Amino acid sequence: MSIILGIESTAHTFGIGIVKNGKILSNVKKTYTTKEGGIIPIEAAKHHRENKNLIYNESLIQSKIKESDIDAISFSQGPGLPPCLLEGLKFAKELSLKLKKPLIPVNHCVAHLEIGRLTNAKDPLMLYVSGANTQIIAYSNGKYRIFGETLDLGVGNFLDMLAREMKIGFPGGPIIQNLAKSGKNYIELPYVVKGMDLSLSGILTNLKQKIQSNKYSFEDLSYSAQETVFAMLLECAERAMAHTGKKELLLGGGVSCNSRLKEMAGIMCKERNAKLFIPENQFLSDNGAMIAYTGEIMFNSNIKIPFEKIDSLEIKPRQRTDELEVLWK
Ligand code: AMP
Ligand code: MG
Repeated sequence: MSIILGIESTAHTFGIGIVKNGKILSNVKKTYTTKEGGIIPIEAAKHHRENKNLIYNESLIQSKIKESDIDAISFSQGPGLPPCLLEGLKFAKELSLKLKKPLIPVNHCVAHLEIGRLTNAKDPLMLYVSGANTQIIAYSNGKYRIFGETLDLGVGNFLDMLAREMKIGFPGGPIIQNLAKSGKNYIELPYVVKGMDLSLSGILTNLKQKIQSNKYSFEDLSYSAQETVFAMLLECAERAMAHTGKKELLLGGGVSCNSRLKEMAGIMCKERNAKLFIPENQFLSDNGAMIAYTGEIMFNSNIKIPFEKIDSLEIKPRQRTDELEVLWK
């Protein structure tokens, strides 16, 4: 029996989740947003600092446990924005010392994948589409390996930058999804898949030019951007499924909250007789529960750092999924 508290702070979201024996007891989060413009790392870190105690207390209340019941604290070590990661690490260290409990450093991307176990996916290939990250990941031979990825922008950032160009606020993904629903005309855009990888910056430039020309509606541009980019993502994911022989596709990351992406993923899986697994939206975008959930899996494999030894723990802003030794599988 273990109770693990998990802290997420890699980018725009500060979240704290609590897990007991694989069950999510609470998942409280607050996300930094802006009306115009993108994410400013220092501002997001300030947001986390100002909200962390509130979120912590709310998470304890929702989970109906006491501070003293916590067995270990896990936190997102990377990848992410350094000022934001530092807030999470600092809070994790404070709690560890106060409660005299061990710390568990968790890779953020792997947590998006591990939380997929809640859906009963056994050995999935994950299409991980978030703000900064876009990767196709699957477990093979002791590691989570990257079978394809973006060569430049994460698809969430792509959507957010497109929204910034339209001056419709951050995060842009949900607003673009709504605009796209009223789009009627498909406008031809570049389609950039290179082997197993894809590239989005050229498409963004092309869209910016189209916005500046004032010849196209935001609805049609949003619709066309989604259709093009989601098709690219699923082409790469499908090829990786064929290559690895995996029969399960798992969606992860905030962009997979998108209803059109879910629909297209469903069609692809049906066509190749594969099964699609989609966690609830609250577990798709950044959240503390996935950090707690992964923390518990690691804790049960005895991966933890005693509170007396946490001094040397650091953030890993550029940690890659395939650097990690997966010692718990
Ligand atoms: P994450 O970093 O995993 O929390 O994901 C955040 C990203 O997800 C941001 O770039 C959002 O714009 C994007 N996002 C959230 N909801 C949606 C949606 N419904 N459609 C497309 N993108 C979305
Ligand atoms: Mg994420």
